[in-house]
This record gives sequence, structure tokens and C-alpha cells, in this order.
Amino acid sequence: MANLYSELEAPHSELPRPDRVMTIGAHPDDAEFGAGGTLAKWADGGTHVTILVISDGSKGTWDPSMGREELVASRAVEQRAAAETLGATDVIMLSHVDGELSNTRDLQEELCYWIRSVKPDVLFTHDPWKRYMLHPDHRAAGMAAIDAVVAARDHLFFPEQLRDGMQKHRPGAVCLWSADEIDHWEDISASFDVKVAALLKHSTQGPTTMGDAQTDQANLDAFAERLRRWSAETGAEPGYALAEAFKRLTP
Ligand SMILES: [Zn+2]
Repeated sequence: MANLYSELEAPHSELPRPDRVMTIGAHPDDAEFGAGGTLAKWADGGTHVTILVISDGSKGTWDPSMGREELVASRAVEQRAAAETLGATDVIMLSHVDGELSNTRDLQEELCYWIRSVKPDVLFTHDPWKRYMLHPDHRAAGMAAIDAVVAARDHLFFPEQLRDGMQKHRPGAVCLWSADEIDHWEDISASFDVKVAALLKHSTQGPTTMGDAQTDQANLDAFAERLRRWSAETGAEPGYALAEAFKRLTP
């Protein structure tokens, strides 16, 4: 699988469907926004999908009456429901404090462990080099994930992990969502509706990121239409009705 991916020239479209995929996102819902259509498409074909979320989502509300513990519990339930909608097999919640992520050696070690455990053929994460990206968690999560990819492939990084059958691991491709320089597209025309349905599972995020899509049909239609228009614009260059776009790296 790794050789197959490395022979693809950029710009390019449509990776062969991988056996195993993993996402590393800062918050619940980042993977659905960034790659939900691609994940749903591949899961439908039989790919094993693991969604890893680094933070607990505890800053994700505009509602002053929402308590922190209530929010964290809701977001974990929402993330599992969204993953189920996409057809993902596993959800891993690392439960670090939302808004306070940084690319530390401890976080790299933790992510390296999960990459070596899950053994994804393709890994999705944030583009930490995206210019003017405001959210500090997105920058930190993307950089920690990429540093962990480098560590996971070499046996001298975190060697204490490599016992009891644990092996080093190198994904065939790393795809960065919301990328600064796009060179890879996936056709999500057939899975777009599943992406929207998965996003709607994140009910607590309705007011902040989905225009109150969960509260009435007009808002829902407007949200789906906005996402559809954006996905259509994304698909124009490769000639897909609806697409997600990425920067693809070969580790
Ligand atoms: Zn986020």
C-alpha cells in the first residue's frame, strides 16, 4: 500500500481505498468537517476507520449556563454518534484540555503510541503550516501529529513502546485537511449526505459552527446548502460534483 501511494504524482485525486485509516483532530467534529465525506466513502467500502480526538472539547460553547463537565460528557457522546454515522469503527478520546494543546514531547509520545497501535495506511490531520490559522489547538495538533508520524516509523523514537509485539509503523500517506496548498482531492458526491448527518450529531456545536442547523429545518437546509456549495467549489478543479481537498504527504 505504501509503495502504491508514493508512486502517485501530485496533483492527484482518489487514493486507492485503504484498509485502515486514522484521523488525529484537536476537537470533536474536526475530522467530520475536514474529511467526513472521504471517511464515510471508505468505511462504506470496508475500511477500518479510527477517529482520535486530542482535546475534550470543553471550550466549545457560547452558552454561559453550560457547565464544563456537562459539555465534555455531551461532546464525547456526540463524537461517538458521529463516528457511528460515518461508519467508523473506533473513537479514541485523549481528553486533553480544550484550548490548551501544545506540541510537547509527551503528546508526540502519546500520538506515536496510537499510530503504532492503529497502524493506519492513511492518516488525516490538520495542516499546521496553514497561514493565518487562528486556532492554537489546530496548529498544535497538526504539528504534534506530524512529529508523531516521524517518530512512529523509526524504532529509536520512544523505543520503550516497542515491546509486547508493538511494531514501528509508517503510514503510506498523510493527508492534511484545510490545507494551505492543496494537491489531492477525494470525490465525496456519494457520501456528502452522510458527512452532513455526521456533523449534525455534534448538537452542542450547532450555534457556533452550523448556524443552529439542529433547531429548525430552514437552518438545516441553509447549513447543508453552504457545505454543498463549498464542496462543489472544491470539486471544480478535479471535476467532481462534490469533493474534499487535502495536501498529501508521503512519510
Ligand atoms: Zn477544531
